[in-house]
Amino acid sequence: MALLSVSDLRKSYAGEHGSALPVVAVDSFELEVGEQVALQGPSGCGKTTFLHLIAGILAADSGRIQIGDTDVAGLKEAERDRFRAANIGYVFQSFHLMREYTCLENVELGMSFGAGVDRELARSLLKRVGLGDRLKYRASALSVGQQQRVAVARALANRPKLVLADEPTGSLDEDNASQALALIRELCRENGAALILASHDRTVIEAFERRVEFAELNSAGGGLAR
Ligand code: ADP
Ligand code: MG
Repeated sequence: MALLSVSDLRKSYAGEHGSALPVVAVDSFELEVGEQVALQGPSGCGKTTFLHLIAGILAADSGRIQIGDTDVAGLKEAERDRFRAANIGYVFQSFHLMREYTCLENVELGMSFGAGVDRELARSLLKRVGLGDRLKYRASALSVGQQQRVAVARALANRPKLVLADEPTGSLDEDNASQALALIRELCRENGAALILASHDRTVIEAFERRVEFAELNSAGGGLAR
């Protein structure tokens, strides 16, 4: 059963002299419930834009982004924000934590925009990512590897059906990168969430059974061809 079904999706940015620069043109992309896929491709080929469209962070110019019963591309901005908070977990390369908040507060803040604060779940997720003894530490007092593990716990906090991870290991050294990658994949599996992970790093990509060459899927090529 498809969890995500993208069709005829188009997104342009404003280019020079007011012209439109097509960046994403994806005719068809599907993801099954619980499925994990790696989007690979060089910097600039449109991976982040594609993930932002699916998450509803950016508005599409046209097309459909069906997630469950909802066409995200047809929603207004405030509706997309609500839908994302309730249904999508997002892991950023640069973590996007509140630096002065504790680990627990960061996860609970994510919950407060979605299903509501559940302290026991927040604790158990943080334990699961190996931070059970750091619950009250401020994010600013953690190593980068630990910060990304908080971000992984937060991404799962609203029990999303879909997790989007954009270069999640790009700021980490090799050991932390492989640990974070394994955690993201295991947590998605344990929670029945599907995963789209974008990366230009071949060692990350090769861990996945399903790999999509995004430059081929995206006929606009991120605008690079122009
Ligand atoms: P990737 O994540 O694969 O590196 P991006 O989606 O970030 O690719 O960018 C795709 C293309 O869109 C690039 O050519 C980039 O310069 C352009 N682009 C990204 N964001 C904007 C923006 N806000 N305004 C204009 N062009 C943008
Ligand atoms: Mg990117």
